[in-house]
Amino acid sequence: MLKLSNFPIKTLKSTPKISDNKSTGILLQAGFIRQTMAGVYNYTTLWLKVLRKIENIVREEMDNYGASEILMSGLSPKDVWDKTGRWEIEEYFKVPTYGDKNYRLNPTHEEIVVPLMSEFINSYKDSWACVYQIQTKYRNEKRAKSGLLRGREFLMKDAYSFHLDDSEFVEYYEGMKKVYMRIFDRLGIGQDTHITLADWGVFTDKYSHEFQTVLPIWEDDIYICDDCSVSHNKEVVDLENGFTCTGCWSASHTIKQASEIWNIFPLETKFSKPFGVKMLDKNNKEQEVIMGCYGIGVSRLMWVIAEYFCEEKGIAWPVSVAPASHYIIVLCEEDIEKGLKLAKQIESEWWEVILDDRIWRKVGFGQKAGDCELFGIANRVVISPKTLEQWGYELQKRGGEPEIIIM
Ligand SMILES: [Zn+2]
Repeated sequence: MLKLSNFPIKTLKSTPKISDNKSTGILLQAGFIRQTMAGVYNYTTLWLKVLRKIENIVREEMDNYGASEILMSGLSPKDVWDKTGRWEIEEYFKVPTYGDKNYRLNPTHEEIVVPLMSEFINSYKDSWACVYQIQTKYRNEKRAKSGLLRGREFLMKDAYSFHLDDSEFVEYYEGMKKVYMRIFDRLGIGQDTHITLADWGVFTDKYSHEFQTVLPIWEDDIYICDDCSVSHNKEVVDLENGFTCTGCWSASHTIKQASEIWNIFPLETKFSKPFGVKMLDKNNKEQEVIMGCYGIGVSRLMWVIAEYFCEEKGIAWPVSVAPASHYIIVLCEEDIEKGLKLAKQIESEWWEVILDDRIWRKVGFGQKAGDCELFGIANRVVISPKTLEQWGYELQKRGGEPEIIIM
């Protein structure tokens, strides 16, 4: 239970003007976030509650698919990046240390996970293996955008799978698509999120897959086939000769604006090769290890959810990630005990309560009701002398009429 009488974070009277999206202004007004610098944010209590819930949904689904959670280091030495030829990438931070030595603030973890796992995967008996982590990543973005979409510091779920052969990899990769679809169904954005074919020419002639959520303001155009609903990123559409579906060769399509939240891609042997990671097959022959990589930009996803559910006066969170389910407003000192008792009763039924007991701070009903809406809490409860006259409290569900519930 979160009691607002001692809660240090305050809301703003009006919504700060943010030019390119709706939700960042609301998140600032609600006190959920504050900017440290462009593309770098502090998260306060309620935003953190949302984040933890998203993380846990991701965690549950990854664990169910047999992936094992680990936590890798944030810093790494130059030599592992030299091995893969990625030390000089401009968007990756170099951190100077003593002398002329440099470390890296990790933007991704292939260079760390491959040497780590090479100790544990040696033979066909170890295939497949998949590890994941949820960790802060750093990118030296030249132009970080306002809002939380393109950050210099962001939270990421990154998973890496290791396989003896291609057919096993393909099966695992296809299964991961279903895992991802379940995750965004649980997060309430499933019906508007499309698995989208994207170019992955850097490593392979195969496609990679992006997960794009339709949002009117951002960021990519996706081309959805009208006949078989396969979605395509702009990169894989031949813009000069017009759209041809890679699934069914149809030319009929719809373009939607969307925001990328996730991607998964085949790494083949791109990273296992430089580190010399091999597995022994059943005939005791050494085989190169095939890898897959599966990302979810957790902080980006959180922003997409906020934008997707953003309304004029607050964010109408889906139940699965809302910072709380009930917001109890108490209007006078004498009724605080009753509010506490009710909060405990509601929480014993696995719900989560914010108790607005700001009496001594002299916060009136209007502001309390406004904050409830701004925080995006679906069930507003009022305990007042008036409701107690009727032996109960007033409950108003989002979009519904208030009703008296007898206590
Ligand atoms: Zn098609």
